[in-house]
Amino acid sequence: METFYVTTPIYYANSLPHLGHLYTMIVADTIARAKRQRGIETYFLTGTDEHGINIERAAERNGRTPKEQADYVVSYFKKMTSEFGLDTEHGGYDIFMRTTEPFHYQGVSELWRRVAKAKTPRGNDAIYKGHYEGWFCAPCAAYKTEDEYQKPKNEGDPPTCLIHETPLDRVSEESYFFRLSDYDEALLSVFESRPDFVRPESRRNEVISFVRGGLQDLSVSRLKTSVSWGVPVPDDPAHTMYVWFDALTNYITAIGFGNEERQKAVGFEKFWPALHLVGKDILRFHAVYWPAFLLAAGIELPRAIVAHGMWLDPNGRKMSKTLGNVIELDILQKHFSTDAIRYFCLREMVFGQDGRFGYEGLIDRANSDLASGLGNLSSRTLTMIGRYCDSRIPSGTISEDKLLLAKRSGVDTDETTVAGFIETARDQFLLHFENLAFSRTLEAAWSIVARVDKMITDAKPWDLAKDENQKQTLDVVLYRAAESLRWLSVLLHPVMPGASHAIWSQLGLDGSPAQVNPAELKWGQLKEGTAIGNVQPVFPRIDKARTMSEINAGEKPKGVHATEADAVGAAAPTTQPAPPMQHATEADAVGITSFIEIDDFAKVDLRVGQVLSAERIPKADKLLLLKIDLDEEQPRQILAGIAQYYEPDKLVGRKVVIVANLKPRKLRGYESQGMVVAASYGEEGRPVIATFTEDVPNGARLK
Ligand SMILES: [Zn+2]
Repeated sequence: METFYVTTPIYYANSLPHLGHLYTMIVADTIARAKRQRGIETYFLTGTDEHGINIERAAERNGRTPKEQADYVVSYFKKMTSEFGLDTEHGGYDIFMRTTEPFHYQGVSELWRRVAKAKTPRGNDAIYKGHYEGWFCAPCAAYKTEDEYQKPKNEGDPPTCLIHETPLDRVSEESYFFRLSDYDEALLSVFESRPDFVRPESRRNEVISFVRGGLQDLSVSRLKTSVSWGVPVPDDPAHTMYVWFDALTNYITAIGFGNEERQKAVGFEKFWPALHLVGKDILRFHAVYWPAFLLAAGIELPRAIVAHGMWLDPNGRKMSKTLGNVIELDILQKHFSTDAIRYFCLREMVFGQDGRFGYEGLIDRANSDLASGLGNLSSRTLTMIGRYCDSRIPSGTISEDKLLLAKRSGVDTDETTVAGFIETARDQFLLHFENLAFSRTLEAAWSIVARVDKMITDAKPWDLAKDENQKQTLDVVLYRAAESLRWLSVLLHPVMPGASHAIWSQLGLDGSPAQVNPAELKWGQLKEGTAIGNVQPVFPRIDKARTMSEINAGEKPKGVHATEADAVGAAAPTTQPAPPMQHATEADAVGITSFIEIDDFAKVDLRVGQVLSAERIPKADKLLLLKIDLDEEQPRQILAGIAQYYEPDKLVGRKVVIVANLKPRKLRGYESQGMVVAASYGEEGRPVIATFTEDVPNGARLK
C-alpha cells in the first residue's frame, strides 16, 4: 500500500502558539487529508521541541521544572489543535511528538552512535571533539556568525541576534563537532540531482549559494554544566546534545527509528521519507544540517523540504506585539469558522511567498467567496430542488422531443459541455494541489462555482418552473448544479472538511466526501431520486461592521507586552455579544442580511398547535407525518424533517409552533399544510422543536 508522511516543524516550547504555527499545521493537515482521501496511508506529525537552555531559563523564571514548563506550553498547543480541528480526534495529526519522550531519547542516541562511527565523504570522522568559542543565541539555540548578528552600539557589549534582537552569549567550551564542512559537495549533488528536494525554487537557490559559500563544522553538544536539559551524549554524559541534532531527529524517532515499540506501532521503513513543511526562517537547518546528518548515518534523505513564507499585516509589515498588529488565535476562534480560516490561509498566501493577514480581509473573503460564492450556490440549488422537485434530485437527461424546447430557453442540451468544463477544472485542481500551489488550486475550484452560477442565471429556473413543458429543462439545470456541488464537496474536503461534509449530506448523500477519490469522480453518478437533506446555509454571512467593532473592542491596548496568559486570552471572561454567525434562515442562505419591517413579520402567521398524532413515513427516514390541532375545523396534516431525533409517540400531546399560512406543498406524495418551527444547531442541523412552558390554547397567534 502506498504511504505518505508529512511533518510540520516541532515547535520550540518556549512560546505559546500563534498564527505561524496554526498556518503550517493547516497546510500539513490539508495535505494529509488529501492523501487519505486518495486511499494513501498517511502519517501526519506535529509537536514540540522541548530541550535546551531557553526552556531551562523559562522554567526557572516561572518556578517550574523544565518538563513542567514544556507541559505548560504543550497544553496550549493541544488546546489550539483541538479548537481548530487539527488533532487526532478531528481527523488531523497522528502524533503530537515531544522530544521529552523516552523513545526519542533512545532513537536520537542511536542516530548519534551511527554518525559517530561514520566517515565523511573525505574520509574523516564525522564527529570529533574540539573547542568552540563563539556568540550563541539561546532562543535560536545556534552560534551566530558575523553576518547573523547585529554588532553592538557600545564597544564591550555583546552583539544581538538579528532574529530575536536579544544579546548573544559568549560561549567557549569543549564541544563535539559534526564535520559539516566535508558535506558541501555531497549536498550540492543532492540539490543538483533532485531539483524538487528544496522548494520553492527561490529558496532552493538560497540554500545552494549558502552551501557554495563554504560550510563550517557544527557544534552538536554543550557541556552538561552549561546545558543540562537535553539528551546526554551516548558514552559521554558530561555532554548534552545540542538541540538541533536532538530536535531534527524527532522526524525519524517518531515513526520508530531506534525504538522497537514505535517501530511496531508506526513503522520507520513504512513511512520514511517525509515531506517536511517549514517556515523559511528554519530552512537552513532542515535543508543543510538535517540531510548532512542523514547522509552521515546512511539514512535515506527526506522526500522534500518545502518552505513557506511568513504572514505580514495588511500593510505588509511584520507582525509584532509592539506594533499591535498580531492576529490573535482566540479572536480567530471566537469570530470565524475553522473552515473559513483554513480557506483564507490557503487562498491568500501564494505558497512559498509572504502573505498578508487581517481580520477585515478574512471577513471579505469569507463573505465573497464562501457566503456569496460556494454557500449561495449550494443553498440556491438545494432550495430550488426542494421547491420544484419535491426535494429529490431530478433527472439529468432530456428526452428527444424536449431538446428543441430546452435549446430555445438557452440551456445547453449537450451535457458534456458542462461536464467537460468541470472535469478539466478538477484536473487543474489536482495538478496545482500536487505542486502545493493552494491558491491556484482554489481558483480552479471557484471556476466551477462561477461556471455553474452562470448556468443557473442564464437558464432562470424560476421562469422554467412556470412552464409545464419545460419541466425536463428545469430538472436538467438543477441536476447539473447538484452534481457540480457533489464534485465540489469532494474536491474541497481536504481544505474545508466541515463545509464539504455539510454540502454532501444536504445533497442527501451517504458516507462522506472524505471517502471519495477526486481523481475517480465520474460525471453523472449523483442518483436521480435521491432525497436531499435539510437545506441550511453552509457559510453564514459575517456582519463586517459588527464583527470588526467587536474585535476592536475586545483587543488589548497596543504596545503592551502580552504575558503568557493574555497571549492566549485564557483569563479574559467575555462580556461581548454573541458571535456574528447568524442562525439559519432561507434568507441568509442566499446571503441577504437586511432588516425587515414589522409588516413583513406580520405576514407570517404563527399559531399554537397541539400534536394529535405522529407517525413515520415508509422509506423516508427523516420525515414524520403529524396531525396538528390548530383549533380549526379539521386538524392540519404537516410533515416535519425530525424523524431522526424525535420518537413519534413522545410528540403526541405536545404544544408546538406552526407557520400556519405557508403555502401547502407536497412531500413524498403527502400534502404538508404548514411547517413546525424548530431551532437547528450543530453541523448536522439537529432540530429542536419550539414549545411553551406555560399553558396556551390551540390556535393562539404568536406576534
Ligand atoms: Zn536568535
